[in-house]
Amino acid sequence: MSDASIIPADLPLRNDLVGEEPYGAPQLDVPVCLNVNENPYDVADAVADSIARRVREVAPSLNRYPDREHIALREALCRYLERESGASLNVDEVWAANGSNEIMLQLFMAFGGPGRSALSCDPTYSMYPEYARDTFTQWELCPRNADFSIDVAATMERIAQVRPSMVLLTSPNNPTGTPLPMDELRAILDYCQTVGVADAAEGTHPVVVVDEAYIEFRDPGVPSAVTLVNDYPNLVVSRTMSKAFAFAGARVGYAVANAGIINCMRIVRMPYHLSAVTQAVALAALDHTDEQLAQVAHLRDIRNDTAQWLAGQTYRGIPLQVAPSQSNFLMFGGSFDDRDAIFKDLLGQGVLIRVVGPDGWMRVCMGTDEEMEQFKTALTQTLRRME
Ligand code: PMP
Repeated sequence: MSDASIIPADLPLRNDLVGEEPYGAPQLDVPVCLNVNENPYDVADAVADSIARRVREVAPSLNRYPDREHIALREALCRYLERESGASLNVDEVWAANGSNEIMLQLFMAFGGPGRSALSCDPTYSMYPEYARDTFTQWELCPRNADFSIDVAATMERIAQVRPSMVLLTSPNNPTGTPLPMDELRAILDYCQTVGVADAAEGTHPVVVVDEAYIEFRDPGVPSAVTLVNDYPNLVVSRTMSKAFAFAGARVGYAVANAGIINCMRIVRMPYHLSAVTQAVALAALDHTDEQLAQVAHLRDIRNDTAQWLAGQTYRGIPLQVAPSQSNFLMFGGSFDDRDAIFKDLLGQGVLIRVVGPDGWMRVCMGTDEEMEQFKTALTQTLRRME
């Protein structure tokens, strides 16, 4: 790998990018990798065979550009959303891209830009400010409550002050795992309908983006924001096949919104952004939804058990705090005064987690039963060594 810090001084890199580094968690070859919130279970053989068959089918026509509108995939995603969230959607209300990272970038390209602001609630996903930077959008944050829930009144106040073109709400939130209750989301959506956007035409209102990257890990019975898109013309829900669906390597994310919002995204998308291979593998995986989601309930149980176990541990005599999570990861600690030392000590034992979130906290994502045993053994050692 080349050293990312080497940027020749005679290259006219954009002024605001000078000194910036590429974003990304370390990709290290370690026995227990619990740092990027993936599903730890391999794709089943039968599903892998289906994927191979579908790719074989499209291979002869790779001389042609793919279906720019990826209609078959959007239809399959509608069927998935009906089944997973009970939402009844038309094909023009769903739109896919290369991971929800690309969905978010398309939203910033369509609705952000110079003179515009995007607002979110801190702490949250650390990629958002990068999409803002790349699209010259001002990035604004409103602090969350001490328990990491959204401070609805303060958020509304900030929305009124900033008059953003985009409000980003992550549910469950990364890195805290905190869900956003439906009544609070509705309150913010209703409020946004009463607020005008700075540097946009009169009568426009902020677009509210709900990032549901981890939504399938919520407790059963809890609704998804996709059930609200027919009620709110300014709501867009971002989802992904990377997490619960165990398909991070395929790079497929999708947006759910009314057709007007999707049409705005279509203006800024690269032509043929979703390759024929990506469309084929996503369709094959969606044919095997049961297999792909087979471990989600078990991962939820592991999350609940691990949260309980972590809450029983101490660091220098202080019990660890664990943020209540509806996701496949847990943010824990609260009192770690040297997170890097803990990170390195765990890594020395072959366990990779993430230093992320507010000072004093770290994040671990749920692995297989065996991996979680290794994590617990290693963390016990680390905490003992640091007493
Ligand atoms: N949103 C959130 C909150 C995330 O944590 C992630 C991945 N870490 C993403 C979006 C992007 O995921 P992907 O591009 O793989 O869909």
